[in-house]
Amino acid sequence: MNYQSILEEIKEEVYPYLREGKVANYIPALANVNPEQFAMTLTMFDGRQYSVGQADTLFSIQSISKVFTFTLALKHYGLELYERIGREPSGNPFNSLVQLEYESGKPRNPFINAGAINVTDVLLTYFKSSTSTSKKILDFMHAIADDTSIAFNDIVAESEMEHGFRNLALANLMKSFNNFDNDVMEVIKIYFQHCSIEMNTKMLSRSMLYLANHGVDPITGKTYITSQQAKRINAVMLTCGHYDASGDFAFHVGLPGKSGVGGGIVAVVPKMMGIAVWAPALNAQGNSLVGTKALELFTSKTGLSIF
Ligand code: GLN
Repeated sequence: MNYQSILEEIKEEVYPYLREGKVANYIPALANVNPEQFAMTLTMFDGRQYSVGQADTLFSIQSISKVFTFTLALKHYGLELYERIGREPSGNPFNSLVQLEYESGKPRNPFINAGAINVTDVLLTYFKSSTSTSKKILDFMHAIADDTSIAFNDIVAESEMEHGFRNLALANLMKSFNNFDNDVMEVIKIYFQHCSIEMNTKMLSRSMLYLANHGVDPITGKTYITSQQAKRINAVMLTCGHYDASGDFAFHVGLPGKSGVGGGIVAVVPKMMGIAVWAPALNAQGNSLVGTKALELFTSKTGLSIF
């Protein structure tokens, strides 16, 4: 298959839509990003990459980081993790408080904010200090993306902290139900830090390979998690990776995927490749509008969906 020309076609077809949607403005440091940007990269198991658009431009990965923190927590806690965090789609916005209240402080899944904040709390308990938790998260990113230049963006993290009322409310609610170990403020700071990680589509698509290959990096041969854990992360990405638009994403794209309000989306074609796409303007559910469209075009043109 000529992946490069398929990507070029997709770029042509999505360009007219780049002005639709809205850049996330509830995080001031992200509000000024130019919406007319697009990038898409495929990384194959032998390391070959196909890219189109601004594939070297770094952006804020935001909630895509939830895939990586969930991986780390599963690796260290295994099934025990599900006693604190569920694995059902929420059918609610990513930062909703309502469901968390009537479900007694147990987040529906690790990919909504409450679930990811709880995962960060679990990691802090395991790694014992903020410094070592942040370091372990970054070390993991460096390993799976095979790139040690990946870093936090402190300006974005601080900007989010200043407006983090809802995330603090979620954490406090979980604490009030005794589903939280550590100091709320300390956990939220680490959570915002991992959301602020900057990567480009080349790095992100590379970082998906362990999930496309049953937990083993096909290039380095390094095992990160068991094949059953990889299967389950992919399953939760498919059912919960796009909040209250997860069903729609599965319907249109048909691949496990995870979005972030920075406009990035990662997706996995099992046994074949990792994909990342970036276009900053979002749809009503907070997922990249053009990114979703590009992935839909990709699976339609190539037939590479899991269904
Ligand atoms: N840091 C963002 C938040 O907590 C992440 C949300 C997202 O990407 N959907 O609101």
